[in-house]
Amino acid sequence: MSEIKVYKIRKVKDETPFMKTFTFVGDLGAKPGQFVMVWIPGVDQKPFGISRQTKNEFDVSVLVRGKFTKAMFKLEAGDKCGISGPFGTSFSLVKNKKVAVVGGGCGMAPLGFLIDELKKNKCKVTIYNGARSIDNVMFVNRFKDSQFCTGDATLGHEGYATDLLEGQIGKLNPVMVYSCGPEMMMQVVCEICSENKVPCEVSMERYMKCGFGVCGQCVMDPLGIRMCTEGPVISCELTKKLAEFGNYYRDKSGKKVNF
Ligand SMILES: Cc1cc2nc3c(=O)[nH]c(=O)nc-3n(C[C@H](O)[C@H](O)[C@H](O)COP(=O)(O)OP(=O)(O)OC[C@H]3O[C@@H](n4cnc5c(N)ncnc54)[C@H](O)[C@@H]3O)c2cc1C
Repeated sequence: MSEIKVYKIRKVKDETPFMKTFTFVGDLGAKPGQFVMVWIPGVDQKPFGISRQTKNEFDVSVLVRGKFTKAMFKLEAGDKCGISGPFGTSFSLVKNKKVAVVGGGCGMAPLGFLIDELKKNKCKVTIYNGARSIDNVMFVNRFKDSQFCTGDATLGHEGYATDLLEGQIGKLNPVMVYSCGPEMMMQVVCEICSENKVPCEVSMERYMKCGFGVCGQCVMDPLGIRMCTEGPVISCELTKKLAEFGNYYRDKSGKKVNF
């Protein structure tokens, strides 16, 4: 079990009309791909990836969805949150290599921290950043070197980030592909990587209650592995053994919901 510490918000930035980045003061010591549980007393605690980290501060980037994220959107610089973690597995970092990163919507959040670390490691990073429309594209200014894709052609290429990956992976020849976003997208990323014999890691989103492996809410069929401890970052090879990958997930009551 990890203790909850109180962190102060240094600033809040609008990423898109539906996404905000919260910068917290403190040295979290996370690895890219790991997540924290953010607690707002009287509301709930929920999992969020780390989208940027320095020695003295860290960011979480949040898409507004329901009760908890609406409460987060009311927070301002100077307010405080309870935070526990970092939790879970992280992306495998490489040095001086060509790599590709494929993000979909707010799935770009944990990839932001990863891209920073890969660039520090002198990797040549090809970034595919896709979303439904321009209003859902994160980090447009932070990673101007991205290849942007939108379903409605409001930014960059019209279509899916995976279309670009498929067309370019042969020539690019990356040593690793990293992905986070809608599960259907990550499923296609895994298929493309398998066909091209390129290792790949994805970050999974499953309903998490405790965040540190006790409650069992986030286990995946049929292996029963917990995404909060044996994930959220797993290899493409492991996804092939998970029957529910790309097919269904479990809601907060444990009921199966098809994608
Ligand atoms: C490892 C991990 C990292 C995440 N990182 C981010 C991130 O960086 N940015 C971001 O915007 N979101 C992230 N999420 C999703 C985030 O936890 C949910 O958006 C948030 O909990 C929604 O809560 P709500 O009360 O606003 O919405 P609700 O109305 O309660 O839920 C809306 C949807 O959010 C998802 N959700 C709700 N509660 C949980 C939960 N406890 N665990 C997992 N999913 C849940 C479900 O799909 C649900 O249908 C992450 C989830 C996981 C598991």
